[in-house]
Amino acid sequence: MENIMAPRISFEFFPPQTLDASFRLWETVQMLAPLRPAFTSVTYGAGGATRKLTHDAVTTIGRNYGLNVAAHLTCVDASRAETLAIANAYAAAGVTEIVALRGDAPQGAARFVPHAEGFASSVELVGALADRFTVRVGAYPEPHPDSADTLADVRWLKQKMDAGASSAITQFFFEAETFLRFRDLCAAEGITAPIIPGILPIHDWNGAKRFAARCGTQVPVWLDDAYAAARRDGREELLSVALCTELCDALLGEGVEDLHFYTLNRPHLTRDVCHALGITQEAALEKVA
Ligand code: FAD
Repeated sequence: MENIMAPRISFEFFPPQTLDASFRLWETVQMLAPLRPAFTSVTYGAGGATRKLTHDAVTTIGRNYGLNVAAHLTCVDASRAETLAIANAYAAAGVTEIVALRGDAPQGAARFVPHAEGFASSVELVGALADRFTVRVGAYPEPHPDSADTLADVRWLKQKMDAGASSAITQFFFEAETFLRFRDLCAAEGITAPIIPGILPIHDWNGAKRFAARCGTQVPVWLDDAYAAARRDGREELLSVALCTELCDALLGEGVEDLHFYTLNRPHLTRDVCHALGITQEAALEKVA
């Protein structure tokens, strides 16, 4: 591995809906908190289904672990007043960061339709929050299913930045080139704020492929072959750590300074990749000292 400065890292969690899932979340936070992430974030269930759970997870992680936690918030199925009430509750609880998203169409619906009294788009939501919060937004290195092409995504991202977002976190991707091309396009369109690559350590290759198909993420043939071979040898986890480390290393070699891990509340692969990149509890403590 090249000798590159340790990146800033961040971790995404999702709110638990069962007791068992609660234990998994706390195990995840417990295992990853010592790596001193720059921030963590907690997702918001489709259609606002986890409104209260997201709030509770955000505030509890912040309080118990001293971590900076960004709350995800979408425009789906809520009036402006309801969405702003959620934001106000975060502000009152001392939360300073929001990941502001439009959100997906509800299951069964062909496309996103705004609530009659709601925010019509992510740009509107960002505009309503940016005076009180540090706002992060989503970004799409491969065309989002609702966009004409990657350039349309980049131009829309520019609007989100102009509305007050201070950084973007990307959808996951499988090859460093995909991100680097997107970063170049963003720079060419005048986006100067940080674009943070979203990194998915692969726990289950078939699940990752299904997820990729929903998001419009291309699956390279060589990767499918690699997992088929690893499955035969019972070495899928080893392959996942190696590939994810290589992906992160390639990004860092190209000047990327931040990595955002989609943990799926399963901490082991993320921890192992961080360790392989030299991000350990000891290194984090040295940085503080
Ligand atoms: P936008 O960026 O607003 O739209 C996506 C694309 O559609 C744009 O790039 C643009 O090309 C096109 N588009 C949309 N509106 C317009 C317009 N008015 N004019 C022109 N083009 C337009 N979903 C959840 O439900 N909960 C979460 O917690 C959550 N967290 C996420 C975190 C990250 C980092 C990412 C990348 C995604 C997350 N999502 C989450 C998924 C997200 O809600 C979906 O991808 C959704 O379809 C798009 O939301 P967005 O804010 O990124 O959309």
